[in-house]
Amino acid sequence: MTLHSIDDCVKLNNGVEMPSLGLGVFKMDDGQAVIDATTYAVNVGYRLIDTASIYNNEKGVGAAIKQCAIPREKLFITSKLWNDSQGYDLTLKAFEKTMSDLQLNYLDLYLIHWPLPKNNTYIATWKALETLYKEGRIRAIGVSNFEPEWIQNIINECDIVPMVNQVEFHPYFQQKELRDFCEANGVQIQAWAPLARGIIFEDETLIKLADKYGKSVAQFVIRWELQCKVATIPKSAQRERMVSNADVFDFEIDEQDIKAMEGLNRNMRIGPNPHEFYKVRL
Ligand code: NDP
Repeated sequence: MTLHSIDDCVKLNNGVEMPSLGLGVFKMDDGQAVIDATTYAVNVGYRLIDTASIYNNEKGVGAAIKQCAIPREKLFITSKLWNDSQGYDLTLKAFEKTMSDLQLNYLDLYLIHWPLPKNNTYIATWKALETLYKEGRIRAIGVSNFEPEWIQNIINECDIVPMVNQVEFHPYFQQKELRDFCEANGVQIQAWAPLARGIIFEDETLIKLADKYGKSVAQFVIRWELQCKVATIPKSAQRERMVSNADVFDFEIDEQDIKAMEGLNRNMRIGPNPHEFYKVRL
């Protein structure tokens, strides 16, 4: 992962280039709120927007993309298949709804949002993603919240190794084993809740480390994620924060401090455990 500017990309296992840093739009209301946020983001240089059908804001994201000055092919749009649409046929149907809401004729990345392991539908769901990928409707396909065992099942039973696994990742939840497994299998990790939704901002160690580099805790943590080879999608609806969260390309965290970061891990999730998460509504 080269780290020079917000235009930097990671190369996925099928050769597609995915921006390392993007904007998450969870909890942004559809309509003007998400249109404004997406437009701000694109105007200040973000090229990746991460939405999902369950966020109920794909229409707004799509409207912003349509209006913006950046050509479609320069943007990288991710969406996710929700839990009530797993299974081969339902997945194909849900994808069409997502595309119609986004008003796009191709998607850059489509993820299975949660594995629902006891339902045992993620393999059939993955096969539908493979069909869409082979038809050229999606440039890259992946999973989210998947543990190694479920990715291994996909590798064993299907044709295509997921290109991305989007998981909770921040200083308090570092997922070392999962990251090692994904790296060994060519699956790019992308961090959700990369700022742990703010709970890390008061951490004394992080405040000291960030100070050392003349950066905010948010900037320090985002930079640390990128240096860990983790792509990241911090969410902010505020223009100044979007700019500040992307101002992470003018410093480098030294090896000693990268090592020190391991000590902050608490194996502490702020989101659901994928073994237990079966919700149909958020
Ligand atoms: P984040 O860790 O990105 O935190 C977002 C929160 O931090 C918001 O309240 C935001 O407030 C605030 N914030 C952002 N930047 C700053 C800053 N510089 N200083 C102070 N506060 C700041 O959490 P998310 O849960 O939103 O995760 C990011 C994205 O990951 C989501 O938007 C979504 O796209 C994706 N996601 C995926 C999941 C999955 O299961 N695959 C699950 C959860 C999220 P404000 O907007 O007011 O700036």
